[in-house]
Amino acid sequence: MKKYKIVLLPGDGIGPEISEVSKKVLIKLSKKHNFDIEIIEKSFGGIAYEKYGTPAPDETLEQCKKSDAVLLACVGDIKYDSLARELRPESGLLKLRSALNLFANIRPVKIRKSLIDASTLKKEIVENVDLIVVRELIGGIYFGEPRGHITNTKIPKAFNTMVYDSSEIERITEIAIKIANQRNKKICSVDKSNVLEVSQLWRDTVLNITSKDKNISISNMYVDNAAMQLVRDPSQFDVILTSNLFGDILSDLAAMLTGSIGMLPSASLNNNGPGVFEPVHGSAPDIAGKNIANPIAMLLSASMMLKIGLNEEEAAENLETAVDKVLSKGFRTADLYDGYSEVLSCSEIGDKIIDEI
Ligand code: NAD
Repeated sequence: MKKYKIVLLPGDGIGPEISEVSKKVLIKLSKKHNFDIEIIEKSFGGIAYEKYGTPAPDETLEQCKKSDAVLLACVGDIKYDSLARELRPESGLLKLRSALNLFANIRPVKIRKSLIDASTLKKEIVENVDLIVVRELIGGIYFGEPRGHITNTKIPKAFNTMVYDSSEIERITEIAIKIANQRNKKICSVDKSNVLEVSQLWRDTVLNITSKDKNISISNMYVDNAAMQLVRDPSQFDVILTSNLFGDILSDLAAMLTGSIGMLPSASLNNNGPGVFEPVHGSAPDIAGKNIANPIAMLLSASMMLKIGLNEEEAAENLETAVDKVLSKGFRTADLYDGYSEVLSCSEIGDKIIDEI
């Protein structure tokens, strides 16, 4: 029997509630598909700050490094916003990404037929959306040096540096090529090369690497146009390849095409170590502790973990189908309520999904 060791990071806000559902689902899947899964829970985010004075304790990071995959719920709360930047839960995320060298963030955005009316855009605009955003995750302006505040000037100044070297662009392009080859072989690289030197390097490098794979059809788009096109005609995209800052913004925009942030999974990967699989949404402090959160984004993240991280494709398929069946039977959490379906709590919809597995 195959054995996997995964680290579960429930984090803050709704994290523990959706993690509880995910744990039960993974255990059911392991029994159904004959594999053994050890789930090691560790402190991370605001809760870890409260206990250990840091959002990403070394012990947690060490366990993550030794695991086969990491399943993360979400972190953060307004009460931590006044802490020094390095103590905030969100800094824990950056530390985890750096510790595991997670340079690629993958966000699939797919319209589920039963939820088409949940989108704020017209049905005919979104019905064929099936795209993946591949975002560079540990470079660019979020990590670039120098950065900081300049205090010896008349008026306060602050600055950041957007910087990439070609090797960072090459490795993320290779990931996009790999993903595109499993899909429609179309990559749209998004940059701002009409204004930024770093974007010109991005464009030149992407074109150089993609030209080596004759199966790939590559196009380039400026980021402002890409934002417009994602709302005007999102189904033109297959794989969107972009840098850290542009990817952060465009992937949230793309996420909302589906209507609910409670439905969207993501994976952060490197070339050989464990990946981190997590929902796109945050810790939703406004609904935490009420058992009304939508656990599906975390379950679909668990499905990505099974497929990409553990190679358990059948179990991943089983979980996706179970989610679709529950939705098409008209069961919803409150965030997806459409006026006529049956609203269930977080744990109840989890149990329905478990019954379908
Ligand atoms: P959020 O995603 O937590 O919430 C935005 C809105 O969506 C809220 O109304 C919330 O109730 C709703 N929502 C989110 N997830 C839901 C779910 N699963 N089911 C039902 N409704 C859901 O974003 P925010 O309010 O901007 O941020 C809250 C906290 O989360 C902040 O501290 C922020 O820094 C943090 N955050 C963490 C991550 C992460 O852990 N990766 C990502 C984004 C934000």
